[in-house]
Amino acid sequence: MPFASIPKQPQVVRLLQNALRRDTLAHAYIFNGPQGTGRKQTAEILAQALYCTELPDDACGECLACRTIAHRNHPDIHWIEPDGVNIKIDQIRELQRKFAYRSNHSGAKVYVLNEAERLNIQAANSLLKFLEEPTSKVVAILITDNGQALLPTIRSRAQWLNFLPMNPDWMLETLKNEGQPEALASSAVHLAAGLGAARELIQSNWFAETRNVMIQLAKETLTKLPDALLTIQNKVVKGEPAGHLMHLLDLWILWFKDLVRIKAGLNERIVYIDQSEWLRKQSAMRETEDWVYCMERLLELRKRLRYFANPQLGLENAAIEIQRGKL
Ligand SMILES: [Zn+2]
Repeated sequence: MPFASIPKQPQVVRLLQNALRRDTLAHAYIFNGPQGTGRKQTAEILAQALYCTELPDDACGECLACRTIAHRNHPDIHWIEPDGVNIKIDQIRELQRKFAYRSNHSGAKVYVLNEAERLNIQAANSLLKFLEEPTSKVVAILITDNGQALLPTIRSRAQWLNFLPMNPDWMLETLKNEGQPEALASSAVHLAAGLGAARELIQSNWFAETRNVMIQLAKETLTKLPDALLTIQNKVVKGEPAGHLMHLLDLWILWFKDLVRIKAGLNERIVYIDQSEWLRKQSAMRETEDWVYCMERLLELRKRLRYFANPQLGLENAAIEIQRGKL
């Protein structure tokens, strides 16, 4: 795949292609940005462009080198993923060992660290030494959604490239043109920072189910609280959404945003297009500030769940508060 296949990151692409043309690639890059914005794809294309036998500053995707790299079989391109929770020092040592051998190829060796913010401190220090003594032809790519969490000494030795979240409207249009179901796509684009991530959500089984349970819960919370409490107990905490509570809350927050949008007369801008009738009727029942209050309750719960609050208790309390409304 060529650089042109990376959607919506023109600055990154321009910078890398210029460096390829001028032979001025840095020894290390930090690809910083949220998941789904094309960071891995860009790393792969950069590695391919270095070895492609057809194109000097791009990847043809067809030649043997391009294909070997795409299949993760190239002896001079190394991909490292966290081993469990962290990237460990043994993984960096193993990498150093591999780099000690002379390669059969003349091109640069490349290593890609995915989720680089998970380097533990020993591994980071070991990597730092590696970055400090770069052999002439090594390109390191550190992929992360939180570049600030990397050691300052690592940050200062690498060129920083920002991958930007994509515009939801553009993503929705693209997904619709691909034939993805519009109702699902419409909520997925607000939960994902990039097209690839949105597509993954739409195609995963749990997402549609979590969205359905959320819609049921959202309606019951406003109309039949006892049913809502049962839904929390039986369908949320014990069901598919249990593993995706943050997404469930994000979806629910979008629900209240829709109610606010309708209040503001922005009916055609709502996310839950398949629920527009219900939302329109419900929106009129309360004031805007009350819908905002509901949204705030959920944002608060979202924060607390991060610190391991009890999900069932938290959801039940939120449902009660939302039902009661702003006093
Ligand atoms: Zn090629």
